[in-house]
Amino acid sequence: MSAQGPLGILSERLEQRRSQALERHLLTLGPATGPRVTHQGREYLLLASNDYLGLSQHPELARAASQAALEHGCGSGASRLVSGTLAGHSALEERIAAFKGTPAALFFATGYMANLGVISGLAGRGDYIVSDELNHASIVDACRLSRATVKVYAHGDVAQAESLLAQAPAGALRLLVTDGVFSMDGDLASLPQLLEAARRQQALLVVDDAHATGVWGASGRGSLEHFGLGHDPQVVMVGTFSKALGGLGGFAAGAPEVIATLVNQARSLLYTTAPPPAQVAAAARALELVDEEPWRRTRVHELADNLRQGLRGLGLSVLSEAGPIIPLLVGQAERALHMSQALWEKGLLVPAMRPPTVPEGLSRLRLTVTAAHTEQDIEQALAALSALAHTAQEAGI
Ligand SMILES: *Cc1c(COP(=O)(O)O)cnc(C)c1O
Repeated sequence: MSAQGPLGILSERLEQRRSQALERHLLTLGPATGPRVTHQGREYLLLASNDYLGLSQHPELARAASQAALEHGCGSGASRLVSGTLAGHSALEERIAAFKGTPAALFFATGYMANLGVISGLAGRGDYIVSDELNHASIVDACRLSRATVKVYAHGDVAQAESLLAQAPAGALRLLVTDGVFSMDGDLASLPQLLEAARRQQALLVVDDAHATGVWGASGRGSLEHFGLGHDPQVVMVGTFSKALGGLGGFAAGAPEVIATLVNQARSLLYTTAPPPAQVAAAARALELVDEEPWRRTRVHELADNLRQGLRGLGLSVLSEAGPIIPLLVGQAERALHMSQALWEKGLLVPAMRPPTVPEGLSRLRLTVTAAHTEQDIEQALAALSALAHTAQEAGI
């Protein structure tokens, strides 16, 4: 059966992906990212990045990172638990806790690793996790890694989530896990209702605020602040510095019992080298910039609302009601890929999101806006999408 050998098997599988319009390629842009990027000498308007506040190109972050590298070196030399915890890590964790209004916090190398560490560090065999069907892939992977019993509820269905929690065996630790803002749909979780369900069912509520930190809430604290909720000891916040905060690194914030458990059991913290000083310094500075430059948050919401309204005006099917993630529902993967390629020809980088990133039949174009965009950029995007919508209409697709 495998007479063709291992590489032959891989080629065949890749060919199958290609025939279903599901193959992926890496696209090299450069030299830096921003609202406009270059590829092979041509400029493109970027509507794909999660750099919501435009901080990735902020000179203050670059300065903080380079200064830390010059003063403290490039590597931290060991895992956090051995000798890798430097003064910068502890200071950053205090800042994260203050920012999120929690008693304690823990910094991870990436948001992906934070989710792996939090979920599989808190829950193990015999424990019980209830998870939204549209949760991020890192949550899905973390649930599998934990070896706990995992139950998945229909997107946003709080009643189903609660009835699943009620079925947990006695003595099991219960986790209710949700994205604060869903990465592919751009919608917010019903956190007040989820929190009530978690309280009634004696569960910890884990909220992945990767897309909300810096963007949502009057002062950018995230989805809880958006709903007027303060810290609750039963909530564990997860977040990342890689999106609105312009750098790299994940975090967990919550009760001291939660953080101490993670220090003992989060394998993605224990068995990897501590993040380097430059990364830590940029992260700390980004938290300050959220407060120092609140106009960025106002701006990204304004620009996003303009784009969303414009797209609706073109009769396009926009999935989100607010915020910088603006998904356009297309349906079939092949059609989404086609549209993405047509936009690329027009000088726009708008990615086609296809299975397994989104459910079968719900492929989409995912547009994102940042505070670094201009009104002209939004107009350019609308003009290109308007032309595309007309062509599609004339072709009857
Ligand atoms: C991007 C993302 C992550 C991973 O964060 P990184 O810092 O990029 O590893 C986790 N959760 C959600 C919801 C995300 O969108």
